[in-house]
Amino acid sequence: LVSRKMQPQNTIVDINGEMIGDGSQRFIMGPCAVESYDQVKSVALAMKKQGLTLLRGGAFKPRTSPYDFQGLGERGLQILRKVGDEVGMSVISEIVSSNDVEMALPYVDVIQIGARNMQNFELLKTVGKVDKPVLLKRGLSATIEEFINAAEYIMANGNNQIILCERGIRTYEKATRNTLDISAVPILKKETHLPVIVDVTHSTGRKDLLLPTAKAALAIGADAVMAEVHPDPAVALSDSAQQMNIAEFNEFIEELKVLQKKL
Ligand code: PEP
Ligand code: MN
Repeated sequence: LVSRKMQPQNTIVDINGEMIGDGSQRFIMGPCAVESYDQVKSVALAMKKQGLTLLRGGAFKPRTSPYDFQGLGERGLQILRKVGDEVGMSVISEIVSSNDVEMALPYVDVIQIGARNMQNFELLKTVGKVDKPVLLKRGLSATIEEFINAAEYIMANGNNQIILCERGIRTYEKATRNTLDISAVPILKKETHLPVIVDVTHSTGRKDLLLPTAKAALAIGADAVMAEVHPDPAVALSDSAQQMNIAEFNEFIEELKVLQKKL
């Protein structure tokens, strides 16, 4: 169903009027994790000033260690929704369990399925049955074929509003947290009719690579760039090293807007 052969025209995902996959290139930004109302609000206000409307933030954090911050859960979703409504933004948040999908629906505009759950088939089936867009991230060690099959699980259950996200894969290279597979973008666009975006934060794990990789993503035709922003990254409860502060975020967006005019 997700194959380009089945549907030659691009799928456009409508997030409250903000289109993903219509040829315009968007930015999905926000903190790694929702930590507090003030933290999310200050990022949202900075985004608003730049004309951005797609706010991300994790309430359920799939952490490698069980002793690391696990997220605020439903309280985090409530904060995200409140800020989204106050500032006029759509909100995107990861759900990690089928049991939480129903609970999350009133809070989120887009359900994110994280890399670690790309092959959680029961979760894919559950989000396949809801009437909300799904942002599906590529698994840590997933081939493009496995990634496409994960999207197929969602669509086979009735939901055709799917956004694919390349977020880096595991390789032997240690210079970056993961290896950004930039060629996955045109391959996924050729093989499927779905919008494809690039997460530059989790793919690189390095602040100094966010801008160059985002430029590459826009140049290669990604439908959006995702990156993490925190008002004070030094005290962030997750991904402290690679989140941008507000000043860095402004510089990042301004540089990319300049590039967008040239493309
Ligand atoms: C995230 O986007 O918050 C996240 C945890 O990313 P990933 O699932 O790609 O690691
Ligand atoms: Mn993160």
